Amino acid sequence: MPTETLEFKAELKQLLHLITHSLYSDREIFLRELISNASDAINKVRFDALANAEKLEGDTNWKIKLVPDAAAGTLTISDNGIGMTRQEVIDNLGTVAQSGTRAFLEAAQKTGRMSEAPGLIGQFGVGFYSAFMVADKVTVITRAAGHPPSTATKWESDGQGTFSIEPTEKPTRGTDVILHLKNDAKEFLEPWRLRTLVRKFSDFLEHPVVMDVEKEVGEGDNKRKETVEETLNSRKAIWLRHKSEVKREEYDEFYKSLTHDSEAPAEVIHYAGEGKTEFKVLCFIPARKPWSFDFEEPVAGLKLYVQRVLIMDRCEQVLPTYLRFVKGVVDSNDLPLNVSREMLQQNPLLEIIHKSVVKNILDTLAGMKNIEFDKYLNFYKAFGSVLKEGLSRDWSNREKIADLLLFESANTPPGKFITLAEYVEKMPTDQKEIVYLIGETAEQLRNSPYLEAYRAKGQDVLLLTDPIDEFALPALGEYKGKRLVAADRTATHSSDIPAETQKKFESLLQWLKQKLPEVADVRLTSRLTESAACLVADAYGMSAHMERLLERMGRDTGPVKRVLEINPQHPAVEVIRQLHDKNAAEARLEGYARLLYEQAVIAEGSKVTDPVAFAKRINELITRDAQSVISA
Ligand code: ADP
Repeated sequence: MPTETLEFKAELKQLLHLITHSLYSDREIFLRELISNASDAINKVRFDALANAEKLEGDTNWKIKLVPDAAAGTLTISDNGIGMTRQEVIDNLGTVAQSGTRAFLEAAQKTGRMSEAPGLIGQFGVGFYSAFMVADKVTVITRAAGHPPSTATKWESDGQGTFSIEPTEKPTRGTDVILHLKNDAKEFLEPWRLRTLVRKFSDFLEHPVVMDVEKEVGEGDNKRKETVEETLNSRKAIWLRHKSEVKREEYDEFYKSLTHDSEAPAEVIHYAGEGKTEFKVLCFIPARKPWSFDFEEPVAGLKLYVQRVLIMDRCEQVLPTYLRFVKGVVDSNDLPLNVSREMLQQNPLLEIIHKSVVKNILDTLAGMKNIEFDKYLNFYKAFGSVLKEGLSRDWSNREKIADLLLFESANTPPGKFITLAEYVEKMPTDQKEIVYLIGETAEQLRNSPYLEAYRAKGQDVLLLTDPIDEFALPALGEYKGKRLVAADRTATHSSDIPAETQKKFESLLQWLKQKLPEVADVRLTSRLTESAACLVADAYGMSAHMERLLERMGRDTGPVKRVLEINPQHPAVEVIRQLHDKNAAEARLEGYARLLYEQAVIAEGSKVTDPVAFAKRINELITRDAQSVISA
């Protein structure tokens, strides 16, 4: 087959343009990315060989070799991993196949500021393509495991839009990535520089990263230079070491190489599970939300190792989805190496690990909250809404998760938070329930008429503004035996209206019901002290916030009717009643009824359906009022 020139897929062109045209300060990460690709390739062939040993062709001397060639100006990264077929080369190196890179592109486009992109690259780690940060030409020579030497493939590109591909010979299995270093990247030919970088990024890698170095050997006259292969990394899997032997910087570097995050993690959780079964866990709570987090599928998982062989990149059985922000590794010697996915499904050992990991993570979060609140708050702002999913999904840990929740409340100063425990502690003795109100912003909620009655009684109200609260809080149901109730739900506030007041308003209520077909009912309420009217959801009906949420998601909620509650103590309500009693046919009454309803709509944070008519009614009132002052 002759040399073929193919075009990169459009989105990859964009990415390469970004990479080659950004002055990237952390460009040394290219080495981490290429070494980790090489290591992945070795893990793949080793895993494959569990079933097809013949693919190894007897070569199990796993290694990743760095070859700096000062004369040629090239740095080669070689591995004896799984290699690639011609088609795999085209698929893997000619398109943006993987989700991380895709998410990077989306994030870069979303911010609309490409100037931020170089920083983003560091966070995402764009894998193979980071080679173009240091090279103006990249050659890949690769031969897939189980294929003869003559079937190898040579791929070459300057990262400018096209790549060429041609058949070639390669005596050994695996991949050579040859970087033709840019003039300003020749530092990566220096052995000491490479050694430092490997220690920094890949020290814990289980496969040796080697390099030929010249060493002086012999004594006196016998002194001569000899080339020896030096292993640059210590290769000790960090999670197998004892906690007391690992420095915080080592954890941080491991975390960064695991996640591509450029910031150190907020918490490190490292322990050995003991008992009937032994396993090691090393996982991390990130300090901030990765750019890709919201683009990714909501799947959780830890890397699963068995006897130091990576079995699965993301083992979902050991981590629940509501803890999907946690990244890390679990290593067990008690699972069989050739464990299948089906077997993992109901493996009791993984069940034990799952329980233990969840407990440790929740305990760590609780500790962080109690000891380093500011750090916890940062965590909570990033991942709180994910954590809340656990309220409905993890019945057995509900209380523990509830203890981790933070809320603004009617009584807290803006930007300050309280926990459920603190709320309960401050409840007046006659308060039976935990009250919350859901809406868009705490600021808006603070001015809500629904708070009036609670304020009057000296009760606090939790102000919830996270979209998931609408589902999460009802799922929790109660906390320490106290029911959680929404302030804008009905039932509780009409019983204490005196019977004579009820009677006095009877006919007005009937009339309002007729005139306002958009509400389910009209009632008197004692929940308001300052406002004239508000809308409440029926005990089982949909709240205003939920309705707006669903609308925004493009769901048709159909007509959702709420109950209009009016405050009999309010002078405006009282004069409407008097006017209605005097002459129910009075034409102006209808406009007043509309205004009562419309002010309640605005107070709950929704929009009036006919703003022009609303303004007209207000202006009529102004005109009449001002005229009465003038003529007085
Ligand atoms: P990622 O490694 O994150 O999937 P990359 O862009 O780094 O993304 O690589 C794309 C794909 O190319 C890899 O998923 C892998 O299939 C293939 N690949 C890259 N480097 C190697 C290698 N040294 N040996 C075999 N396959 C490789």
